[in-house]
Amino acid sequence: MDRQHRVAGALIGSAVGDALGAPFEFGPDGRFSARFPSPARGVATEMCGGGTLGWEPGEFTDDTQMALLLAESLVERNGLDGADVFDRFRRWAEADPPDIGLQTRAVLGSCLPWDTAAAEHFRAGNRSAGNGSLMRNTPAAIWFARAGREATMDAARRISALTHGDPAAGEGCAIFHEVLRVLLAGGDADAAVVDALPLVAAEHREKWARVCAPSWRPQDATEGNGAVWPTLGSALWALRNSATFEEALRLVIDLGGDTDTVACVTGALAGARSGIAGIPMRWTSVLHGRVPGFEGRWELPDLHLLARRLDGHRSAQPYAPPTSHDLEPAEVAPGVWAADLDGARRSDRDFAVVSLCRTGGRFGHDVQRLAYLVDDDTNPEVATVLDDVLDDMAALRADGRRVLVHCFGGASRTGLVLRAWLMRTEGLSAQEATERVAARWPHLGLWNDSFTAALEEFGRR
Ligand SMILES: [Mg+2]
Repeated sequence: MDRQHRVAGALIGSAVGDALGAPFEFGPDGRFSARFPSPARGVATEMCGGGTLGWEPGEFTDDTQMALLLAESLVERNGLDGADVFDRFRRWAEADPPDIGLQTRAVLGSCLPWDTAAAEHFRAGNRSAGNGSLMRNTPAAIWFARAGREATMDAARRISALTHGDPAAGEGCAIFHEVLRVLLAGGDADAAVVDALPLVAAEHREKWARVCAPSWRPQDATEGNGAVWPTLGSALWALRNSATFEEALRLVIDLGGDTDTVACVTGALAGARSGIAGIPMRWTSVLHGRVPGFEGRWELPDLHLLARRLDGHRSAQPYAPPTSHDLEPAEVAPGVWAADLDGARRSDRDFAVVSLCRTGGRFGHDVQRLAYLVDDDTNPEVATVLDDVLDDMAALRADGRRVLVHCFGGASRTGLVLRAWLMRTEGLSAQEATERVAARWPHLGLWNDSFTAALEEFGRR
């Protein structure tokens, strides 16, 4: 898998977990699965919003807000500048964010200098090793991954110490950094823990070894999951006990308690493992939020760009698509329509739109799903994406919506999905489906051999 798919998966996966878990914060266990016993792919999804703080569906919380502050500092300062990160955190805290950890609020509001505030707080007897420094560390774990094990673990401790004086929290962040580094390179999380433990400070090593061991389960925790140990322990446990991003997130949100943060940490690891294509598009598409004290609204394309910048593409620029031919939507199968980018952008608002290309931003439609489907052969996850897209289309049709599928030219990616849809719903062969689509949508493009192979594979499945 392309490294960039894993990097985007980690950053966007952490924000997805945060937004998905937020409505369930401080609830009892099992509440997510009680409300959503099976995947909710129709108009209403598991990104339900609400909770005690009244989040919008898809809105991220303080976990991601702080992660974005850290990320922008790393990119703009071209490295770790502790004073700058602390200043940004303080400006954010002064803007009165709806959600902020107790310890973080106390340290940022203390009026002490950036390099002593957290240590003073700890010295004064505030010894709770909360998960508030672990929750925001994904951007730094991406940034420092290429620097190697020791460097990334050291950076993790320094960033944690900005707000969390307890070294136990810093050691948790250090292990997280190393696990994410290994996952981004396609490696195994449990093996990464084994290699990280010798570098963990001696006085904290035994406890971290216990919580990160394959035999540990969340019910073995000796603290609530607002503490750093069970947060990381639960994330690793969920990773071990799941095959997909979706399964991992369901497991941890069902644990209850500090669901946004545990799901945020889990989402980073599971997203690095699955890549961005393994994260359901019904969750990524609605991600959004603001950072109190700072300008601007964040959406999915902004997070993709940030992920690229954190991974070394410092000068990556926002994508603004050129105009397409503005192909009028046409019905290709009952209730399923095709268009190109501008045709879809201008289409009736009651369409549920499935976008298979970068759009530069959301359209005005109330339902728009953004799939990650690259039109070349660098996308070995095409089968995963295809299943996700077709399952959502079926659910949206069942909810009575007309579905409009489009990509930039309406040719190759659109053609892949429409043909697979006909194969699935009408039992056609790949050849028959191609002929049917070509008859109703003459813009069909068949140049991508990896798509042809994926379609044949789809037929065999
Ligand atoms: Mg939160």
